[in-house]
Amino acid sequence: MTYLLEAKDLTRTFYEGSIATPVLKGLSIALKEGVLTAITGKSGSGKSTLLHILGTLDSPTSGQLLFKGEDILKLTDNKKAQLRSHHLGFIYQFHHLLMDFSALENVQLPLLIAGLSPSQAKARAQEYLEKVGLSDKQNCRPGELSGGQRQRVAVARALSPQPDLILADEPTGSLDEENAAAVFSLFEGLVRKERRAVLMVTHDQGLASRCDRIFALENGSGAYIK
Ligand code: ADP
Ligand code: MG
Repeated sequence: MTYLLEAKDLTRTFYEGSIATPVLKGLSIALKEGVLTAITGKSGSGKSTLLHILGTLDSPTSGQLLFKGEDILKLTDNKKAQLRSHHLGFIYQFHHLLMDFSALENVQLPLLIAGLSPSQAKARAQEYLEKVGLSDKQNCRPGELSGGQRQRVAVARALSPQPDLILADEPTGSLDEENAAAVFSLFEGLVRKERRAVLMVTHDQGLASRCDRIFALENGSGAYIK
């Protein structure tokens, strides 16, 4: 079968001068559509490194990475950027919003980059701000929003291009329980109703247990424990 994203035998070693730090030591993971997967593991175990590689933001030292069966490590930087723009959505622990732009503009920007017309981008951005419950805040800048609201803008920004796969690195790590639950519900809806895939790093055992699968990263490798 062809997976949405399949990584085989990934290694990643960081080199600083003569010091080599092996972080990933032969890790394989395969993701399907319509599945919500949690990644757990101690701090420093390589969770962010793995997400960067899966999202083509970093390259492995060795190994294979296939998106819908296509080898994506061979792509040029431009083609990788296109893949990210059209197929992948990124959410981080901290929102990384542009502080001088409104919520609406923050959500619109990647849509314009992906090639939507300004009117299409505006309509889509408004649709997703509504989904995250922020229609009334669309003209606010991030500085005028609470932490939870900012993260919901970041979620709208990541979801609005309708990517096949969301890569979320501790997306609820800076949120209180109520906002964390709201963000998680959005992921559940995306996976259950739209058959998209979400891969989410989390330290929250409660949220991890609500995911379909749990991949535990340990000693540079890992395995599904659910
Ligand atoms: P996690 O997200 O699980 O906390 P990371 O993937 O951020 O872990 O980091 C795993 C290890 O890789 C850590 O020891 C970290 O110091 C190291 N590391 C991560 N990025 C780099 C880098 N760009 N250069 C050197 N070492 C790095
Ligand atoms: Mg991390």
